[in-house]
Amino acid sequence: MYDTTDVLVIGGGAAGLSAALVLGRSRRSVLVVDAGEPRNGAAAGVHNYLGREGTDPRGLARIGRDEVAQYGVRFASGRIVDASAGPVTADDPVGFTATLDSGGTVAARRVVVASGARDVLPDVPGLAAQWGRGVVHCPFCHGWEVRDRRIGVLVTTPFGAHQALMWRAVSAHVTVFVTDPALVGERDLAGFRAHGIDVVRGPVREVLSDGDVLTGVVLADGSTVPLDALAAASTAEARVTGLAGLGLVAADQTVGDVRIGSALPVGPTGATDVPGVWAAGNVAAPMATVIVSAAAGTTAGAAVHGDLVQADLVAALARADARTPAGQSTR
Ligand SMILES: Cc1cc2nc3c(=O)[nH]c(=O)nc-3n(C[C@H](O)[C@H](O)[C@H](O)COP(=O)(O)OP(=O)(O)OC[C@H]3O[C@@H](n4cnc5c(N)ncnc54)[C@H](O)[C@@H]3O)c2cc1C
Repeated sequence: MYDTTDVLVIGGGAAGLSAALVLGRSRRSVLVVDAGEPRNGAAAGVHNYLGREGTDPRGLARIGRDEVAQYGVRFASGRIVDASAGPVTADDPVGFTATLDSGGTVAARRVVVASGARDVLPDVPGLAAQWGRGVVHCPFCHGWEVRDRRIGVLVTTPFGAHQALMWRAVSAHVTVFVTDPALVGERDLAGFRAHGIDVVRGPVREVLSDGDVLTGVVLADGSTVPLDALAAASTAEARVTGLAGLGLVAADQTVGDVRIGSALPVGPTGATDVPGVWAAGNVAAPMATVIVSAAAGTTAGAAVHGDLVQADLVAALARADARTPAGQSTR
């Protein structure tokens, strides 16, 4: 059993640590519980993160934890597996109790959910093993690293053709694998021709690796296409397993009519529909990058502090009223 804390932060990635940082600096008691599986954990480096460009994901988290710890924030390794709402202090009606996979429990006045997203990948043998390394999804995250290399683009969504052009911007050696002709129109094909992008029609049967290195793909007819990288799209699903007791429900995320994953609905500060619970980072915004997730964590942390300031004010006024002789008022 951990001490009752002002704020429980679920997840210690960029979003959770940034929330904890602003809360710790505001002298709130904070416990960060982190299962230690960042979404980008397979990648060699975090890119587009100003000030720490290219740091490995777990290294960046370590740096963040050290920074946050200096403000008294506490950490627990593990996973929140259950949580429920109900007061945990005498003078605040809002509160939560959560259980860790270790069996320990923590009571908190507020919760920031920063548990990230889980990528659901195209079902091609060999693809998952290369995710984040030879198999890439984001030209901004990985494009520079595969510049001028042989890049395959596995088109499994209506955005695939656009993605192919994004990858073409970093390499002249792009091959598009059109698994479903309905996903690529005449204009897309004309664009591919104009940019010198090769087109292969039909399913990709397997992603090939030699040890740790992606080497190509196998087509339905058994022929192989040598590659240095394969771009593929995932859907990013909010990691909310074990958090249903908080009353949170993830909603489908769409771009146009294409489903790209799921996320917790939040307002501008990260407040969820459940009073006392905020969400930040990929759990609320599947397309948010690391720096954007960090910013969302900061915003949520600041809002939680503001909410606690107001709750403390209400409690202080009630205590003052209780001490005031009948007939007089403190207000
Ligand atoms: C392969 C890959 C490469 C990427 N590269 C880049 C890049 O170069 N630059 C960039 O800006 N973005 C990149 N991204 C996106 C990046 O991963 C996200 O923007 C970022 O991870 C979001 O941060 P977060 O704090 O919301 O979640 P995460 O970093 O995923 O952190 C969430 C944490 O919460 C923990 N957790 C989950 N559930 C629980 C629970 N119930 N209890 C306790 N802990 C829990 C997880 O284990 C994890 O440690 C990449 C994504 C992928 C898939």
